[in-house]
Amino acid sequence: MRDLIIIGGGPAGCSAGIYSARKKLDTLLIAKDFTGQIGHSAWVENYPGFERVKGLDLAKGFKSHLESFDIEINEFEEVVEVVKKKDFFSVITDEGEYEARALIICSGAKTKKLGVPNEEKFLGKGISYCITCDESSFEGKNVAVVGGGNAGVEAAVELTRFAKRVYLLECEESLSADEVLVERLQKEGGKIITACEITEFKGGEELEGVVYMKDGKEETLEVDGCFIEIGSKPNTDFVKGVVDLNDKGEIVVDPKTFETSVKGIFAAGDVVDFKDKQIVIATGQGAIAALCAYRHLS
Ligand SMILES: Cc1cc2nc3c(=O)[nH]c(=O)nc-3n(C[C@H](O)[C@H](O)[C@H](O)COP(=O)(O)OP(=O)(O)OC[C@H]3O[C@@H](n4cnc5c(N)ncnc54)[C@H](O)[C@@H]3O)c2cc1C
Repeated sequence: MRDLIIIGGGPAGCSAGIYSARKKLDTLLIAKDFTGQIGHSAWVENYPGFERVKGLDLAKGFKSHLESFDIEINEFEEVVEVVKKKDFFSVITDEGEYEARALIICSGAKTKKLGVPNEEKFLGKGISYCITCDESSFEGKNVAVVGGGNAGVEAAVELTRFAKRVYLLECEESLSADEVLVERLQKEGGKIITACEITEFKGGEELEGVVYMKDGKEETLEVDGCFIEIGSKPNTDFVKGVVDLNDKGEIVVDPKTFETSVKGIFAAGDVVDFKDKQIVIATGQGAIAALCAYRHLS
């Protein structure tokens, strides 16, 4: 029986691992991979200590820092179920079963994709899923935002501060965002296009346009950037029915301790019910969760 099992090898999991190893907890960290979502970020420019670093290089740095401590790591292993026993937890993976007195879930999230041609090709070359991360790259340029919910319209309003022209594209007849946000976007000069279906992205090395169908006609919007804001899905299938989740499927935590609805199970990073999702936030939460798990165990 181990003291602690950490699920996830992204920023939150690595940070939790570093803190638990320094507290000499007998810890096992299980991760499908060590790139997490930052592997999809071409450049990170808002993690303190690094003015500009490739997402993959930052992920490698987190992993090698973790490995410098005495911690057991099972990489390329996927957790499929968590079972609460009397005073411990059983973690079942595609390779085996492990037991611990406490858990920290840092399984992150997956951004929803449109699934249209060239979406992958222009990722980091005009296409982004993260407004906070990439908005400043589009100063004075034409950009589109896909998604008419609050996240999409908020992103479009934010972009009007930097970009030359902002378009908001929504597949439904009307936007689902709050009216006050829609009014703000209109006031700032954003152009809203509803009832359109995006069919492909085009360009050479970099994104040059978004192709969509409207009223049976194909149109091309010439833009340098496109933010896809159609939501993300937290990786929580394996804890459904074990800990409380909110209506988005995120794990509900106590914001002081990062403990979930189950004593002894903690969670941190993009998987929890915090609005802002960033690397620096995930690493901070991972550290708090590990320190609180340590206090719980002692
Ligand atoms: C395109 C893009 C660009 C971004 N750019 C920036 C940026 O510039 N700056 C910034 O601060 N933030 C950025 N972000 C946000 C940032 O990546 C996240 O906030 C951060 O990665 C969250 O860390 P995390 O550890 O909570 O989750 P993740 O990074 O999602 O890591 C989750 C980990 O859990 C593992 N995992 C998942 N399910 C299982 C399972 N069942 N079993 C075992 N392991 C599992 C995964 O393999 C992974 O190791 C960006 C996000 C995206 C998508």
